[in-house]
Amino acid sequence: MMNRDIVSLINNNQEFIITSHVNPDGDSIGSEIALQLYLKSLGKNAGILNYSPTPDNYTFLDKERVIEQFDEAKHKERILNADVIFILDTNEFERVRTLAPYIHASKAKKILIDHHLGFKPELFDEYIVDTDSPATGEILYRFFKDIEKAEGKTGIITKEMAQALYAAIMTDTGSFKFNRTDEETHTIIADLLTYGLNPYDIYSEIYNKSSLGRLHLLGRFLNNITLMYNGRLAYSVIHRKDFEESSTDEYAIEGFSSHLMSLETVVLGIVITQTLRGVKLSFRSNGDVFSNELAGEFGGGGHQNASGAFIPGGDIDKLVKDVTAKAEKYL
Ligand code: 5GP
Ligand code: MN
Repeated sequence: MMNRDIVSLINNNQEFIITSHVNPDGDSIGSEIALQLYLKSLGKNAGILNYSPTPDNYTFLDKERVIEQFDEAKHKERILNADVIFILDTNEFERVRTLAPYIHASKAKKILIDHHLGFKPELFDEYIVDTDSPATGEILYRFFKDIEKAEGKTGIITKEMAQALYAAIMTDTGSFKFNRTDEETHTIIADLLTYGLNPYDIYSEIYNKSSLGRLHLLGRFLNNITLMYNGRLAYSVIHRKDFEESSTDEYAIEGFSSHLMSLETVVLGIVITQTLRGVKLSFRSNGDVFSNELAGEFGGGGHQNASGAFIPGGDIDKLVKDVTAKAEKYL
């Protein structure tokens, strides 16, 4: 269903900011770019401000290099004076990190477009939330199509927008294989392909960009996998020195968790990463193993089968013991 109030807010305002979560993924970047291109096509001033830099494998979506990394001194006035702020792919202000206080203080209307669990409506002026949707990009696709229908137009989605939405949906569905991938997802993808996209090129831009260091890091990660509870739990720990010795950074671990889930007996996988600012826990699970509830015990959240938490300054050895002990009751 189209949200008329969001359409009115778009039509009646000029200054827009779009943001998404720390360590943006394909769904964050793809959704941001698609929305920015749409707002720009309406003659609006629309900027994208993110806490983290764009990972190299997603910069191809940002041809005009409109995404800026948030800089408090440079950008705070823009946030405070914006008319509308879109928050995409996260319902938690904690996950936009240092932008949060300025968004709260801003006079702007705050609009959430997201597919995560645990959303609090009182934090936003308007929202489109669909927790059954596998990607924020899918929600945005429907939003654009509904506008086309309501206004009797076609051509709102351009080829560049289609590419960004395709990348958003492809990455958040694990290339069309995770649970929430359904008939509608494939119907949307089929339509997006009619814009002249090449699936192999998009896949290749995103996933065939490894450095040798990243594969060496993956080697360490695979070597360190530990099984517990009759093989139902698998985890692996990556320390700061692993990044240093492989000349990689924390962005290099994207996708590692799927290797834990490839083990036959495993129903819950945990990637435990020591980053510069603290410890990141990344959870994946099968079926009715509620990984998001386990993430919640560490102040995090997400989806039933994919979730995470971040513990600033956390003691990694203690956390490994703690999270693997707490995991038992979910198995
Ligand atoms: P990933 O393991 O790929 O970093 O994250 C998987 C999912 O877990 C994300 O899509 C997001 O929903 C959730 N997630 C990851 N990190 C955090 C976090 O620090 N806090 C919360 N609330 N959710 C997270
Ligand atoms: Mn997403």
